[in-house]
Amino acid sequence: MSAQEPLTILSVTDPEPTTTDTSTSQDFIREIVAADGRDGKQGGRVHTRFPPEPNGYLHIGHAKSICLNFGIAADFAGLCNLRFDDTNPTKEDVEFVESIEADVRWLGFDWGERMFYASDYFERLFEHAIGLIERGDAYVDSLTADEIRDYRGTLTEPGRNSPYRDRPVAENLELFRRMRAGEFPDGTHVLRARIDMASPNMNMRDPTLYRIRHATHHRTGDAWPIYPTYDYAHPISDAIEGITHSICTLEFEDHRPLYEWVIEKARTEHRPRQIEFARLNLNYTVMSKRKLLTLVEQQRVAGWDDPRMPTLAGLRRRGVPPEAIRDFCARIGVAKKENVIDVALLEHTVREELNRRANRAMAVLRPIRVVIENYPAEQVEQVSAVNNPEDQTAGVRALPFSRELFIEAEDFMEAPPKKFFRLAPGTEVRLRWAYIIKCEGVEKNPDGSIREIRCSYDPGSLNGETAQRRVKGTIHWVSATHARDAEVRLYDRLFASEDPEGTGADWQQDLNPASLERLTTCKVEPGLVALPAGSQVQFERQGYFCVDPESTSDRPVFNRTVTLKDSWAKIQARG
Ligand code: ATP
Ligand code: MG
Repeated sequence: MSAQEPLTILSVTDPEPTTTDTSTSQDFIREIVAADGRDGKQGGRVHTRFPPEPNGYLHIGHAKSICLNFGIAADFAGLCNLRFDDTNPTKEDVEFVESIEADVRWLGFDWGERMFYASDYFERLFEHAIGLIERGDAYVDSLTADEIRDYRGTLTEPGRNSPYRDRPVAENLELFRRMRAGEFPDGTHVLRARIDMASPNMNMRDPTLYRIRHATHHRTGDAWPIYPTYDYAHPISDAIEGITHSICTLEFEDHRPLYEWVIEKARTEHRPRQIEFARLNLNYTVMSKRKLLTLVEQQRVAGWDDPRMPTLAGLRRRGVPPEAIRDFCARIGVAKKENVIDVALLEHTVREELNRRANRAMAVLRPIRVVIENYPAEQVEQVSAVNNPEDQTAGVRALPFSRELFIEAEDFMEAPPKKFFRLAPGTEVRLRWAYIIKCEGVEKNPDGSIREIRCSYDPGSLNGETAQRRVKGTIHWVSATHARDAEVRLYDRLFASEDPEGTGADWQQDLNPASLERLTTCKVEPGLVALPAGSQVQFERQGYFCVDPESTSDRPVFNRTVTLKDSWAKIQARG
């Protein structure tokens, strides 16, 4: 099937960054929905659903599906349900249900009163199965799992009919009721659709509808010893909810005939239509819930909300605004062919959004002390700094300036190369929003490392006669006596290689060992310690950061969301 084709990196042409509104984009699914409306199909209604299985946290791939389903409902004045597809009793958990609800809300979507569980329909699914048996469309098979596999044939050979395929209806009914009553151990019988063992589509070779599983379900407890398969439960759940367009990812394309068969044979009132689209793949990450679960369980990351995870909880903790995710989903569009999106596009979208909204501040991540010899020891001035040059309404703030400052260690070099425009012995730089300083020398520790940089300042260079004087470099700083200690966590891509899933056997070998760097001796502007968790800020010259939930005013913690370097813009420029 198409999902098996080799993946190509899609060169997405970057549309004008106009709105964060997904509703303006037109795609092949919206065209189908519009055509159905014109043709009067589905009674002119549009009703979609987002159907997560509560066996993990949502990731950015799910965001694509959420934006699509809720977005189409919004565009066509329809409805979108949230449905937990909880037919697998052993892997599901309330923690996941709660996280999914929180994440869909955070992304900005609302299901109103329409939150459902496939497990709500167990009774009706069972009744529909009775109907299928009565009409000769389903039978109880008593072959073992191995035998069933054997009888199924291969892609090149047809399957063979099970010896139980022609059981009389009455016997099927009795056995199925006894399965439901819990009389048989796991694996002894299954209920199968009676379709065609010679079908070229393997999914149509009498697929399993029910399995015996003596397992406790997170909602129905021990009420059911049999559980429906996805292929059976999904179309009927859609029909029960009156879904008009059942949108799913490409791997279900080959299941569509079965979806249609179930709808037809179950004689449901509503006849939803399945439409497939290409799932989102991103480079430098894994996106399957099973792999993400492995990373969490093996503590390769700090949890589902580790800021390196592609989960919505991780992206949120990293500081990515929901608007940027919606904008990203609008930009990648909806296609019918598998592709891989460059994570640089996501980062670019995040930068654009944060550039608009994040106030600027100064933070020195690897500090080194500067003493301004000709600045009075007791003097403190308040200099004025613009909060956000992109947003006039953000105003200005006062920053304390004094004789002792911290600057970034890498902004000073004792023996600089030619084009080093920062601080070096005898050279000048401007301190952002403040004076021009000149390096007069350095003081060293006994071990030869630099203890402090000695400078002089030009008193006229802020508001005086030399205010317009230009020097080559501008660097950021904080006042040593006023700055506050902070921890800064620099996050990078979780995987070192572009296609960690493509390496086959051990995708975990590809984890980027430098994906997290914790800097614990940072110095930040005093105003930053009062910011609540989740606040976003641009540290000048360093990137966009957000306040981590673990942050306290005594010990503020900032996560780097993205750097300022826009590799996507470069990729676009190269064309
Ligand atoms: P995973 O492969 O990560 O385990 P899944 O498909 O099993 O995901 P579900 O909870 O069943 O996860 O997904 C809910 C919905 O989200 C489905 O309709 C599914 O098609 C869609 N979805 C899942 N992953 C992606 C993706 N990468 N891109 C777009 N849609 C996705
Ligand atoms: Mg699934």
